[in-house]
Amino acid sequence: MKKQIVLLPGDGIGKEVMNAARDVLTAIAEEYNHTFSFETHEIGGAAIDQFGTPLPETTVDACKQADAVLLGAVGGPKWDNNPSHLRPERGLLGIRKALDLYANLRPIKGFKNLLHASPLKEEVVAGSDLLIVRELTGGLYFGTPSERRDNGQSVVDTLYYTRKEIERIVDKAFQAAQGRSGRLTSVDKANVLESSKLWREIVEEKKSQYPDVKVEHVLVDAAAMKLVTNPSHFDVIVTENMFGDILSDEASVLTGSLGMLPSASLNETGVGLYEPVHGSAPDIAGKGIANPVAMILSAALMLRYSFGLETEAKLIEDAVQSILDAGFYTADLQIAEGRKVNTEEMTKLIVDYIRTLNTSKCIASCYY
Ligand code: NAD
Repeated sequence: MKKQIVLLPGDGIGKEVMNAARDVLTAIAEEYNHTFSFETHEIGGAAIDQFGTPLPETTVDACKQADAVLLGAVGGPKWDNNPSHLRPERGLLGIRKALDLYANLRPIKGFKNLLHASPLKEEVVAGSDLLIVRELTGGLYFGTPSERRDNGQSVVDTLYYTRKEIERIVDKAFQAAQGRSGRLTSVDKANVLESSKLWREIVEEKKSQYPDVKVEHVLVDAAAMKLVTNPSHFDVIVTENMFGDILSDEASVLTGSLGMLPSASLNETGVGLYEPVHGSAPDIAGKGIANPVAMILSAALMLRYSFGLETEAKLIEDAVQSILDAGFYTADLQIAEGRKVNTEEMTKLIVDYIRTLNTSKCIASCYY
C-alpha cells in the first residue's frame, strides 16, 4: 500500500513524539511492504515564528492532498500573550475546519501496570477499554445565533443538528462498534431535548443496518456517573458535540496519564487527523523524556481508520501493551517497579517489538 502522510509536529514535545511515531510507521512499512511517504509542515507557534501565521496556506494545501495527517501538539508560553489571530491553537482549529473533520474518536484503555495511577480504585478501572465517538462540527458550539439579548439580561445559544449530521456520526459509531465488541451506547438527553429525541430516533432507525451491534440508550447524566462507577460497562459511546466534549475529558482521567491517550478526527472521505490528547508540555519540552505512547497510538489509529490496516494497527497496540507489561515506563508514569526509559528508548523498545514480533526475545536480548 502507498500512502502520503503529512506530519505536523507543532511545538514543544510535539516534535519529540512525532519522531517516535515516524520511526514506528517506518518499521511497520518495512515489515509489511508498504510505502509511506512523509512530508513535514509547520503549524502553531513554530508556524507563527517562521511564517507569521499559525496555519500557513502551504500546510493546509499539503494536508488536503494527503491520505492522512499526524499532528503533535501546539502552543507554549512564548505565544501566550499574542493577539487571538496569532495564537497557536488557531492553527489547530483552522486545520480541523479545513479538513471538515466531523467525527472525533477517543479510545481510553486502562493499562494493567498503570491502574494505581488512576484517581479511581484499581478494581473499578480494571478492564476498562472504551471508545468515545463525539460529533465535532454541529450542536451547541456551532448553532447560530448565539447572542445576548435585553441589554445583556438574557442570552441564547442554539443547539442545531440536521438529520444528515446525526446519521453520519451514528453510522461511524456503529461501524466502530462492529470492529470492537459490538456494543454501542448512545448518550443523549431525550427526556428533555428535542435534538436528543431526533438523535435517539435515528439510532433506532439505523439499528437494522447493523444487526450485529447491541444498542442501549443512556441519559448523559447517568452516563457521567457510570463512567466513574463502572467504566468497563462501556464499549463504544456515541454522543453529540457538547456531551462528548465533557464525557471524553471525564473519561481521559481514568487511565492516570495524559501521555497514553490518542485521538482521531475523521471526515467523510476517510482522511483523518490523528493527534495525542495531551498538549505541548512546555515544562518537559527539550528534555527527551516525553512519553511517546499517545502519539504512537495515534499513528495506530491512522492505520486502522484511514488506511484499513487493522493487523498493523493491532501490532502497534500489542507492542505498547507488551512493553508496559514488561515494566518499562516513562517519567510521567509512576510505576513502582521496572525500568524508567526516555522518549528514544521507549520508541526503540516498541520498534524492536514490531521488528522481531517477539517481546520476550527482544526484551531479554536488547535490554537486560
Ligand atoms: P499539557 O498536556 O501540555 O501538559 C499537562 C501536564 O502533563 C504537564 O505536566 C506535562 O508535562 C504532562 N504531559 C503531557 N503530555 C505528556 C507526555 N506525552 N509525556 C509526559 N508528560 C506529559 O497541557 P498544558 O500544560 O495545559 O498545556 C501546555 C500547552 O499545550 C498550552 O500552550 C496549551 O494551550 C497547549 N495544548 C495544546 C493541545 C493540542 O495541541 N491539542 C492540547 C492541550 C493543550
